[in-house]
Amino acid sequence: MVTGAQRQRTRPAWSGLALAALVVVVALFAPQFAGAGPNGNSQSLRTLASTDAVGGQLSGGLQKTAAQTSSYSIMQARLNSGKTIDARWNPCQTAITYRVNLSGLPKAKRAAMLKTVKASFKRLSAATGMTYRYKGTTSFVPRQDNLTKQPAEIVVAAVSKKRTDFPMTARSLGYGGVLWSTWYGSQGEGAAVMRGYVVLEAAAIQKLKTGFGRGLRQSNVILHELGHATGLDHVSSRRQQMYPTLTASSPSGFAKGDLAGLARVGKKAGCIEVPANVSISDLS
Ligand SMILES: [Zn+2]
Repeated sequence: MVTGAQRQRTRPAWSGLALAALVVVVALFAPQFAGAGPNGNSQSLRTLASTDAVGGQLSGGLQKTAAQTSSYSIMQARLNSGKTIDARWNPCQTAITYRVNLSGLPKAKRAAMLKTVKASFKRLSAATGMTYRYKGTTSFVPRQDNLTKQPAEIVVAAVSKKRTDFPMTARSLGYGGVLWSTWYGSQGEGAAVMRGYVVLEAAAIQKLKTGFGRGLRQSNVILHELGHATGLDHVSSRRQQMYPTLTASSPSGFAKGDLAGLARVGKKAGCIEVPANVSISDLS
């Protein structure tokens, strides 16, 4: 099952009526542009996310873009000029920090899950070449309207799906995605992923096997959702971990196509110069 979600948020640092008026005009033609900074740069925030189920069907939602191959698909950020580019993190930030909320799990199961989450980030780092830094636990639960307030760049929360408003179904195992910022102005235009989030359905994920390997495992759900939190979208190939449904024949961890997609949005893609006035700060 595939579900897309888009959010727009207003940048708090407005100054001047002229800029505000400009924003209104821009907003009429391009609803995703919702804020402007004091130097004339405009910024917008978008999220794209996916929900995942065991045994569900792949149904719609995949956008055919230049970044899609048969084995990986990368979420696309649309710039002010209309050009689309890969939605990716700036691999040159010191680290991508993460915090973990395991409050939906029985206390006896939290240590093992934390270990799996940390090991999954290590695998993600090996695939992207980027540095991820664990900053501890949190009580934060990602929701559609609070992503800019995350206490770390990525939050992984294993909680009841009732605690979030991402559209999860009775069969959902998790929900993951990114929040990116786009900008344009005197410094040119660009986009960067600024936040990522993973919600694991606590009751459902406990029923899966622990450890790494093929099939119906907690680790494969976590890696899949971390793929979303890195900018990957679903693919129709069952051989990839980014196939939208976890099955008994799901690959062990990231497969060849997943790794190709993660490499494409990783360190080798080069630094992104994020303007200082982008309102979502680098927390590293
Ligand atoms: Zn998914």
